[in-house]
Order: sequence, then C-alpha cells, then structure tokens
Amino acid sequence: MFYSLANPRERYDVQRTLRRQNSVYLGTGSVLYSNLGRPMLTIVADTCGRHDTLGGACAQESNTVRYALEKRYMHSCRDNYLRACAHDGRLSKGDIGPNINFFMNVPVTADGGLTFEDGISAPGKYVELRAEMDVIMLISNCPQLNNPCNAYNPTAAQVLVWN
Ligand SMILES: [Zn+2]
Repeated sequence: MFYSLANPRERYDVQRTLRRQNSVYLGTGSVLYSNLGRPMLTIVADTCGRHDTLGGACAQESNTVRYALEKRYMHSCRDNYLRACAHDGRLSKGDIGPNINFFMNVPVTADGGLTFEDGISAPGKYVELRAEMDVIMLISNCPQLNNPCNAYNPTAAQVLVWN
C-alpha cells in the first residue's frame, strides 16, 4: 500500500490506476495513481510479469472463509498492515485500503471471476519502482500458510531503497 508522505489521506487508487492503463495487470511502464489523480510511482523494471491488483490482502476473515474455522488465528497480511499502522503513527486501521499483491498470480477469467493460481515468480525476480512523490509504503510479506501458491512456505523478500 502506498500513501503520500505529505498527506497520507492521498493514497494508491487501484480503480484510477487500472482505468488509466486499460488493464488489470501491472508491469514495466505502469503508473500507480493516487486518489487525487497524481502519479505516485512508476514501475520501471519488472522481471516477474504478473502482479495482482484485485485480490486484496489476506485477513483473519478471508482465511476463515477460504480455509477453515481453526485458521482464524493464523497471522495475515491485514495483521501486518495493522501492526505497521500502529508502529508508524501516521496511519490507522481506517487507512488500510486496496493493495498490490506483487508477484501474486490472480488471473481474471473470461466471465470476470478471479482465480488464485500458482505463482510465476521465483527467487531473484524483482520489481523496481520509481517514486514520483515522497511516499509511505506498507509492505506485508504474506505469511500465508494455507495457500499452495507459495508451496506453504513463505520466504523472505528483500527491499532496497535508494535516492
Ligand atoms: Zn497475505
């Protein structure tokens, strides 16, 4: 999730981003727009080629519905975002909105449905973003243990930030 550092009420807007590029998939050249219509970031390199923009973050509720009642207390991306908001202090629960699932393969079917498919990412694949404004970035390296897309084995992600 992305927010303007100057005004965290300005944030990544999935609908505007997809409408302006006329595609549900992101890749090199995609511009991520804010809810105020300003470019926030541009994807300048992408060695994976598939990133989900529609599936949202996993949560206690979705894990319970999708997998089993006893999965309710397993850690989720939403938990990570809530924890990051509490730590940051500029964001709160109400600021959690649409996110981008980088490296996640969620094809849109011909009739408009979503399917969660095995990932096409691999070790060493990366996405490079150029910030078009100063941003706050919340990242959850999905701790999902129920979805076979990561072979039930979440692995580390590396984040590099430079000027
Ligand atoms: Zn997740």
